[in-house]
Amino acid sequence: MHRKHRKNEDPFTCVMEMIRRTGEILEFDKRFPGAKMVERIAISDKIIRFKSIIPRDDGGVGVFQCYRVQQSDTLGPYKGGTRLHPSVNMDEVKALATLMTLKTSLVDVPFGGGKGGICVDPKGLSVMELERLIRRYVNQIKDDLGPDEDIPAPDVNSGPREMAWIYDEYRNYSESARGVVTGKPLELGGSLGRLQATGYGVALITERFCYGNKLVNPAISIEGFGNVGQFAAMKLSEMGFRVIAVSDSGGCVVNQTGLNITRLLAYKREKGQVADFPDAKPLGNILEAPMDIHIPCALGHSINGENVDQLGSNLKLIVEGANSPVSSQAEKILEGKGVTLVPDILANAGGVIVSYYEWVQNREGLYWSEDEVLGRMNGKMIAAYDRVVNYAEEKKLFLRQAAYCLSMEKIARAINYRGSQ
Ligand code: GLU
Repeated sequence: MHRKHRKNEDPFTCVMEMIRRTGEILEFDKRFPGAKMVERIAISDKIIRFKSIIPRDDGGVGVFQCYRVQQSDTLGPYKGGTRLHPSVNMDEVKALATLMTLKTSLVDVPFGGGKGGICVDPKGLSVMELERLIRRYVNQIKDDLGPDEDIPAPDVNSGPREMAWIYDEYRNYSESARGVVTGKPLELGGSLGRLQATGYGVALITERFCYGNKLVNPAISIEGFGNVGQFAAMKLSEMGFRVIAVSDSGGCVVNQTGLNITRLLAYKREKGQVADFPDAKPLGNILEAPMDIHIPCALGHSINGENVDQLGSNLKLIVEGANSPVSSQAEKILEGKGVTLVPDILANAGGVIVSYYEWVQNREGLYWSEDEVLGRMNGKMIAAYDRVVNYAEEKKLFLRQAAYCLSMEKIARAINYRGSQ
């Protein structure tokens, strides 16, 4: 996947360039002379790269490249998901870990940032093989994990089932295990609302934008129909929005008057795809749907220099449900056309916010209602959104730039308080 990116267009380079530019805007060199603030934020604390070998069901072995990047613990323990995908590579995990550092700072969650990944196509493994792989992965990094050290969570192709294996494997080595991983099944100390959190947060931010910008009855398209896309679609349609197009890796369906999301979800559950959904027409490419708002919830740089021109001229807003779905080249073109982008570190932060609540509940042994969890999440998301929008207006910046400024300002101050070591 990453081989397709043009030079200087991969997600890691884009994030690093944003950090450098933000350091200039915030005048770090002048305000913190000699402190090397940009390097201290940009360079990851620790990068763990290893191979995992597991027995396969057929008597052979499987060999997998694995990563865990502990990006920064300036604001709290390392925190971030574990991605299972054949395109996972070192630079991608570093970029994603850096986004976690920026995200937790921006939305006021007392965690640092990290990310893990295994280069694997989970569909090519049996459930037993996948469990063996996850357990092996945890066994190899157990000394680096811990409720106050580094706390994994779900990401692309990993969910409650995989988090349960992480928890259960880690229990073999430590007594205080519950808070070592978030996104667990409810029965093992998971939090109500965690499954929905990222998608619901994306819907909430979309609604907030429409309200603030008087955008009435917009047509919305959702690219990627996994955990984030499904719950975003569900919430948006509950809110009364018109979701006109949805895609997954197998195809795209469109219905100009609005898809029936409840039925589409049931269809996806049954058939494993959205293609051939009866109440809609097929569409070759979701970017060509006549949408006002596009919500990418698939993989990194799904909107890039090569396909950005396919997006329709009605487009007013992109809400980044995925992490770095828009390349910086595509972003410049969209900004030139007056399209607003709500950046990933704000738009999809609902997941890590509720992960934080799960961790708090695990520590207290006191569990909250779904309303309490999601009510608190909504409050945090709206507060962060308003902070970013106000800062952007005041300083005349695009939203991503404003979000990076607010996030990096806080990290820099924390580093400064901690002194020169
Ligand atoms: N993988 C999610 C993200 O990118 C969630 C991370 C977490 O809950 O720690 O934000």
